[in-house]
Amino acid sequence: MDRQQEFVLRTLEERDIRFVRLWFTDILGYLKSVAIAPAEMEGAFAEGIGFDGSAIEGFSRVFEADMVARPDPSTFQVLPWETDGVTAAARMFCDIAMPDGSPSWADPRHVLRRQLSKAADQGFTCYVHPEIEFYLLKNMPIDGSVPEPADNGGYFDQAVHDAAPNFRRHAIEALEAMGISVEYSHHEGGPGQQEIDLRYADALSMADNVMTFRYLIKEVAINDGVRATFMPKPFTDHPGSAMHSHLSLFEGESNAFHDPDDPMQLSPTGKQFIAGILTHANEFSAVTNQWVNSYRRLVHGGEAPTAATWGRANRSAMVRLPMYTPNKASSRRVEVRSPDSACNPYLSFAVLLAAGLRGITEEYELPEEAEDNVWALTAAERRAMGYRELPNSLSDALEQMERSELVAEALGEHVFDYFLRNKWAEWSAYREQVTPFELKNHLPL
Ligand code: GLU
Ligand code: MG
Ligand code: MG
Repeated sequence: MDRQQEFVLRTLEERDIRFVRLWFTDILGYLKSVAIAPAEMEGAFAEGIGFDGSAIEGFSRVFEADMVARPDPSTFQVLPWETDGVTAAARMFCDIAMPDGSPSWADPRHVLRRQLSKAADQGFTCYVHPEIEFYLLKNMPIDGSVPEPADNGGYFDQAVHDAAPNFRRHAIEALEAMGISVEYSHHEGGPGQQEIDLRYADALSMADNVMTFRYLIKEVAINDGVRATFMPKPFTDHPGSAMHSHLSLFEGESNAFHDPDDPMQLSPTGKQFIAGILTHANEFSAVTNQWVNSYRRLVHGGEAPTAATWGRANRSAMVRLPMYTPNKASSRRVEVRSPDSACNPYLSFAVLLAAGLRGITEEYELPEEAEDNVWALTAAERRAMGYRELPNSLSDALEQMERSELVAEALGEHVFDYFLRNKWAEWSAYREQVTPFELKNHLPL
């Protein structure tokens, strides 16, 4: 038993923790949980906890269903909203293994670990800092009717009568109690829309943090009498919810993206990384924007990107180079603005990193900066300027992903095949729907 495992066992006793929730994530990014009694913990560390993998989206086929969840003691945290002063519950993320002990190819955490070890082979550690947007709602109808936002605020509003400021305070207290540091939080552009930005962490811890964040935000919302949604675009007339992801690569203590002599303080490695992201943007879009609804967000006007471009102050660009603190070496980073808040963070960080690293190994050339407001140009103007449009639907994105050797390699064969099969099924089910738009416009035909 190692020291982290001993720490967990000691804390279980000291804090009188009655439930340990073992968490993992399926291929689509849904959080899964199995609760065990504290007495089982020592055995779970030694042998893992067996479960039926075929019952989990994309994990295994029925004839090879036995899988093992192995708790990662470094992720142990007490759950603040399940702690009432008397008893407590805690959670740990798990790595998924096959019965012979080898890592499961279907485990999104393993997909990201594999990509991180490729980065490590090139000498890099990857850090991520996400800005997560979501809506607070008064209700959560699931019959297809339009939900009601929890407030009428707008960008940076501090409205005293709304649920939002209290909610954000409660949410941040709960996040900090779980060791997840928050950098900024504010009301976003849409009514009820919030943004919380997490302090950077290594990519694997951050993917775990994003999963924790989404669960915690929903719990805190319910406690505050509202509901939270990470749906990419819940309202036709209001902006969607992005998960802007700021990425940086470090070589030991030094930021590989920083160069004090460059006018943008961006190193050749940083430029190649951006070029990699842009070159492969359309191929990985189905991963960072994985739902039918994701493509309602990537339209002109909503502050969301529509083309594979980069820029500095330019918020219509897909990749932005934040210039707030350009001279601080440690903060030189690259902001990717296309991912939405309902992506699988493990798979998304894995494909973003794969694309960026490909740019570095192949020494891709950084294209010209997009100076213009991409949203204001006509389609013909955009084409003339050489801007490549991002996929405009899930089917478009899936077609481009299917042809991608980069995404196949980053996800591994099993996840790649399963993901495509599942998402094509989502697309077909959607395609067969007659929508309110059609009834409104076409019934008189
Ligand atoms: N909500 C916008 C989007 O969907 C982003 C707004 C912002 O720039 O923070 O991309
Ligand atoms: Mg924002
Ligand atoms: Mg941003």
